[in-house]
Amino acid sequence: MSAPQLDKTYDPKAVEGRWYQTWNERGYFHASPTHPGQPYCIVIPPPNVTGSLHVGHALNHSLQDILIRWRRMQGRNVLWLPGTDHAGIATQNVVEKQLMNERMSRESLGRERFIERVWQWKATYGNTIVNQQKQLGESCDWDRLRFTMDEGLSKAVIEAFVRLYEDGLIYRGERLINWCPRCLTALSDIEVEHEEIKGKLYSIDYPLDLNPTIHLTVATTRPETMLGDTAVAVHPEDPRYNGLIGKHVRLPLTSRTIPIVGDSILVDRELGTGAVKITPAHDFSDFEAGERHHLPRISIFDDHARMDSNGLTEAAVDQSIMGKILLRPARDARAIIIESLRQAGLLLKTEDHKMSLGKCYRCKTVVEPYLSPQWFVKIKPLAEPAIKAVEDGRIRIIPEGWTNNYLGWMREIRDWCVSRQIWWGHRIPAWYCQTCNGEVLVSTKPDGTWIIPLEARPVVAKTQPPLCPTCRGKDFIGDPDVLDTWFSSGIWPFSTLGWPEQTPELKTYYPTSVLVTGLDILFFWVARMIMMGLKFMGDVPFRDVYIHALVRDAEGQKMSKSKGNVIDPLHVMEQFGADALRFTLASMASPGRDIKLAEERIEGYRNFANKIWNGARFAHMHLAGTKELRPPAEHPFPNRWIMSRLNQTIQTVTTELDAYRFDRAANALYQFFWHEYCDWYLELIKPVLQDSAHPHGAITRQALQDTFEVWLRLLHPFMPFITEEIWQTLPHTGETIITQPYPTPLPAWHDASAENTFSVFEQIIGLIRAARVLLNYPPGQEVRVFVTHEELATTATLVTLKQDLAHLGRGQISPIPISQWPTSNVLHLVTGGITVGVSVEGTVDLKNSLDFLTKQITETDREAQRLDGKLKSTDFVSKAPPEVITDHQNRLRALSRDRAMLTSSEQQLHAMLEA
Ligand SMILES: [Zn+2]
Ligand SMILES: [Zn+2]
Repeated sequence: MSAPQLDKTYDPKAVEGRWYQTWNERGYFHASPTHPGQPYCIVIPPPNVTGSLHVGHALNHSLQDILIRWRRMQGRNVLWLPGTDHAGIATQNVVEKQLMNERMSRESLGRERFIERVWQWKATYGNTIVNQQKQLGESCDWDRLRFTMDEGLSKAVIEAFVRLYEDGLIYRGERLINWCPRCLTALSDIEVEHEEIKGKLYSIDYPLDLNPTIHLTVATTRPETMLGDTAVAVHPEDPRYNGLIGKHVRLPLTSRTIPIVGDSILVDRELGTGAVKITPAHDFSDFEAGERHHLPRISIFDDHARMDSNGLTEAAVDQSIMGKILLRPARDARAIIIESLRQAGLLLKTEDHKMSLGKCYRCKTVVEPYLSPQWFVKIKPLAEPAIKAVEDGRIRIIPEGWTNNYLGWMREIRDWCVSRQIWWGHRIPAWYCQTCNGEVLVSTKPDGTWIIPLEARPVVAKTQPPLCPTCRGKDFIGDPDVLDTWFSSGIWPFSTLGWPEQTPELKTYYPTSVLVTGLDILFFWVARMIMMGLKFMGDVPFRDVYIHALVRDAEGQKMSKSKGNVIDPLHVMEQFGADALRFTLASMASPGRDIKLAEERIEGYRNFANKIWNGARFAHMHLAGTKELRPPAEHPFPNRWIMSRLNQTIQTVTTELDAYRFDRAANALYQFFWHEYCDWYLELIKPVLQDSAHPHGAITRQALQDTFEVWLRLLHPFMPFITEEIWQTLPHTGETIITQPYPTPLPAWHDASAENTFSVFEQIIGLIRAARVLLNYPPGQEVRVFVTHEELATTATLVTLKQDLAHLGRGQISPIPISQWPTSNVLHLVTGGITVGVSVEGTVDLKNSLDFLTKQITETDREAQRLDGKLKSTDFVSKAPPEVITDHQNRLRALSRDRAMLTSSEQQLHAMLEA
């Protein structure tokens, strides 16, 4: 076989795109329910259709592709199902911005035409992220690409909603919800970002109605909401307010009086004055207190968080104030109200106060608690089985530490507000008969959207009913709201497989095998999939949930455009190749710790790709031609050793992948190739390969080629492109590495004696090299070296390795008992049971060597002191991860061994100098 041609340097750009296209065209990623293997399925966390591949996706998707390619090679029936999410508010915002540039608005376009525009936008830009995923090498079954708004999935969403409604798990209610006054929609609790700010705490006096000389003092950070107060609460056992419960106070700036109620939940007697205002329409705890005491709710803001005329009228606000604040934003109204209270002598004091402010995760506008009719999912009956599934191990969360977070959160979970007041999304399948609801259906928003009051009675059905079941009327108004994006992603693991139809895909691939996700959406998404899966499929949606870390910059800072510290995976792939990026992310994916990513690291693994390439070029010069590796017993030592190491690497990689330790698997692959295969094995066999008459020539070429081929298959899931490119040039059967069997451990390859021998060998070469440096021998100079081992058998083995030692140690090596060594001018170096004697020839400048030694000793001491100092610092020891501490301890021990050897060498050289 003539040597195949590989370019001198590896060019990922020339290789990656070409292979991806071939793989995809030949259908290697396509799954079939009838495939014989045991099913293995992952549904991708669908990226937003507005998205562009960021480094978090790159990590998430690389890890999934490693699992998928690994399982596929193991012969499993593999499906990796891709898709994108319609991302309600995010997508609507993008298209609204586009319209703004054209001097149009959503409202001017109208709902139907706006939705058309969003679909147009999706057709043009919606595949951006999909194409970027292909660049990363993701082996998804693209024939099954889904979109949360496609026909099948929309059908599944409606089905799920109607079933939940029919089971009494969906209701309409007036609740305080988080409201974004800019996006004009409800937000779920987890869509609100909290920020600590410096605010003010205002103390306001409320005079007693029947005796204005007595005041109750309440404190608030939001004085403008006082106009909506409907009670003041005190602790029922607080002696300061003995006898006041049931009496009334005058609400300043209004003509209302409000009751004093006793409430031990809302009021902490130890805090402040012990009197608390209750504003049920503008505060979550007050809302609940209002429920307990049957208080009215007066909402004084409109949906833009401006002072609302209906609300202010209902609150009976004094006309003089009303005129000043009407339609003003809450912030402006605050100053006016504070000033009025001050003039009335009712503002007792103003203090600085730290407080937490909720902001819209989408547009960063301050979120308002806002009273409005919404659709809710009754969550407790769904959460209980979802808690149980994790408690009894039907779902495993990895790393296990997150299990308690999940359980804690699920036990506290509140009803899920699933309606959103936007246009882009799944319309809620509810209709209101205009005849039956004629009296309450009276108003619309400026954009023409109907406002559906709580009293309206909906008909919930999969499609608009032809006739009203009550009055047989035909005129309906559709519910204007759409569903929370997480509703459709909550049923993603089975809607994508064809549910509610009983498809072969659903039967074969559900429950899926593992969900790979970041911690940030454990509650947004993972918990909901578990609840919905158990509800509709009667089984968990996945067996394992693997939670990976977040990717941060090299200093551990969150990546953000404004900080300019973003690592763009597209740019990095362009520069270093997708393989290098994938390998970097996998090698850093330690459980539970943030990944501190620097571009240098990716560059480092690009060098690894180059190293593999050079290894291939070397192998090509010595190909065996066919694939028929002989049993280890027939091989000389270097082959037996590398085969044993490869067997160990196969074992490690498989075990670690089983445990989702991508980092350890990647590092085992790297260590084997770089340090064992290239640094040692290739060096050891060079003389054999260069000697065309060498008796071990043929078998060594075979070992060189076939161990490389096995390792390429082992590496393939991590670096799919370069492995395919090289594998194709080695003798092989089959048309692609993708469908080759994943290497399994070969117990016959294990050879403890070869590994022990190598360990002695490696130490001897290390000592010889150190001595050569110390004595300043030029690289080409042959040196006389004596070696011995305290065990006779090992010394005997060393005799058989004389050639190998001579080759790597560059000298005449004599493995003989120490009694036969020359008595003078030999530098003795001792480690373990090994003693190496290096002849000190007349050319050696002893004074120079001593100077060199002194420097080395100083450096060793300095480094030892540094490590010791760190290990003695309680701050370091308490913060550093255990493996870093172990590593420091090991290095300190190694330094102490070095120090002993250096001191001994120093004494020996002194003695020689004086002789
Ligand atoms: Zn917003
Ligand atoms: Zn009707």
